[in-house]
Amino acid sequence: LTLAFNELNEINTSLKDNLAENKKNQLYLEKVLAKQQALFDASTEAVFSFNNNEIENINQAAIEFLGLTPDDIKENKKLSYDLFLNRLSNKQQFLSDTVETKENERTTLHGFFEAINGNYYEFYSVPEITEGHYIGRMWCCRDITNIRKNEALLLYRANHDALTELPNRAMILEELNHAIKLSKRHNSKIGLLFIDLDDFKKINDTAGHQEGDRYLIEFANRLQSVLKSGDILGRLGGDEFVVILEDIKNIAHIIQINQRILKLCEVPFYIKDKKYHISCSIGVSISPDDAINSDELIRKADMAMYQAKKLGKNIYHLFDNKLEKVALEKVNIESQLRDAIVNDDFILHFQPKISLNNNSLHSVEALIRWQKTAQELVYPDSFINIAEENGLIKSITYWVINKACKTLKHWQGTVLENIPLSLNITALDFSDKHFVDQVFKIIDKNAINPALIELELTESIFLNDISSVKKTIAKLKSRNIKLSIDDFGTGFSSFAYLRDLDIDFLKIDKSFVFGVHKDPKSRAIVKSIIDIGSNLGMKVIAEGIESENEMAILTEEGCHIGQGYYMSKPVSDELLMQYATKLNIINSKKGN
Ligand code: C2E
Ligand code: CA
Ligand code: CA
Repeated sequence: LTLAFNELNEINTSLKDNLAENKKNQLYLEKVLAKQQALFDASTEAVFSFNNNEIENINQAAIEFLGLTPDDIKENKKLSYDLFLNRLSNKQQFLSDTVETKENERTTLHGFFEAINGNYYEFYSVPEITEGHYIGRMWCCRDITNIRKNEALLLYRANHDALTELPNRAMILEELNHAIKLSKRHNSKIGLLFIDLDDFKKINDTAGHQEGDRYLIEFANRLQSVLKSGDILGRLGGDEFVVILEDIKNIAHIIQINQRILKLCEVPFYIKDKKYHISCSIGVSISPDDAINSDELIRKADMAMYQAKKLGKNIYHLFDNKLEKVALEKVNIESQLRDAIVNDDFILHFQPKISLNNNSLHSVEALIRWQKTAQELVYPDSFINIAEENGLIKSITYWVINKACKTLKHWQGTVLENIPLSLNITALDFSDKHFVDQVFKIIDKNAINPALIELELTESIFLNDISSVKKTIAKLKSRNIKLSIDDFGTGFSSFAYLRDLDIDFLKIDKSFVFGVHKDPKSRAIVKSIIDIGSNLGMKVIAEGIESENEMAILTEEGCHIGQGYYMSKPVSDELLMQYATKLNIINSKKGN
């Protein structure tokens, strides 16, 4: 008995120990579970698990998401999967998105859905597996409405102009591509208007950028008011707008819209009670007639707009192929000119200027030619303007000055020694602040007497800032370089600059010289220019003398110097040398 008692006692103690251990474990497990639930509830993601269509676990966010109350949970109601499905705005879509969970219960899924409250959710669905057995499915749903909204906002910002809220360049291109695709399919036409405000700078400069911005918004609103709902208005930047007109029936339709837009600009815009009238110029291109891709279509409308500006602004202009040909030709010449500069493909021809009182060689004008091929000599009228437009003229002018200095050097010790050489300089060259220093540098490098250099300027240089023109002239004169006004009488002939500036020669334009012996009015003009020049202490040169009669009148009127085909055409350095030698012989015979 004692033995059995002891044994029982031992068992009893061990049982008690086990019980205590279990109790401890139970407490521990409960604690862990409570912690887990708290953690579970703290998550902002709705998390719940299903087994056999019934909810097993659910956190606080999921209770809210499913529209339940805490009581629903406490009462241990059976919560079915439908509860969840009913919260979705498109249940069918979701079921088809998640059909894989039916086919393979161990699959993991990730996707998106919209809830009936309009919010967007991202979900993860993972199977719960214990000891190799599937026991249910866990769903985590995260509200991403704000992220979506921000993404949408970013997308909007990337595609819209911040000032006017209109589609920007990126979006216009997209819209245009889309419209072109549709038009191909429907065999219809698209019109593209490129609208640019005329002299918009005026508002920015006089009223400030803020008012300028206000005007742009106002203009955008006005434009919108004349367009139909299907037409797309966008802003490319600055004061440039575009309109895409889809499915246009005929040109008249486009013209009507253009006219309405131009009319809009007649309504004044007020800034602090001051009236402003800003007009616009419109260029039009049409797809597929002018182009079948968006970049090309915009480029051609832009080109047409540029033409509208050139034709006087406040008008519209339709793109035409001639326009493009001219532009292409220009681009072509520009690139060929670049090569010509690098390859040194220019030559100078020289035309003598004769003193009319004694028939001696007074000076020589250098005229550039472009030796395009061995046979083809291109005259300056077909490339100087283009070179002026694209700025290449500066390099060409430096080439001419360099070549002229080398020529003067070459003339030393010949009949042409100490004969001044005149060069044609454009307004663009003259406005360059490095111009004078460059000229001096080239002269000094070649060790040339600057008094042998004469610069022929046109009156257009006086459109530049007059005080800087004065300074440039003074600097040139400080080293004895001579200056003449070319084509005098055709530009803006102002007496003020003749009075204020130190000019040596006036060149009467050849249009007044031509037929001067037959036309009394031309003769009166020529006489007046000779008088003004002489009275101001300048020498007067007549260019374009083609006949003995013309020369006789000019000599009679007291013109100092003559130049023209009658004496000599512009010729090579070699022929000029022969001409000068011959002239010397004739003159010395006369002297005898
Ligand atoms: P420009 O400075 O008025 O030069 C006179 C132009 O008239 C020259 O044409 C000359 O060949 C031409 N000419 C001379 N005598 C007569 C005549 O009796 N009758 C007629 N009908 N024409 C005559 P070119 O050489 O073709 O030059 C044309 C224009 O190109 C020049 O007009 C000048 O503005 C410009 N140019 C020429 N060389 C240069 C240059 O090196 N640099 C710059 N910037 N322009 C140049
Ligand atoms: Ca000239
Ligand atoms: Ca001239």
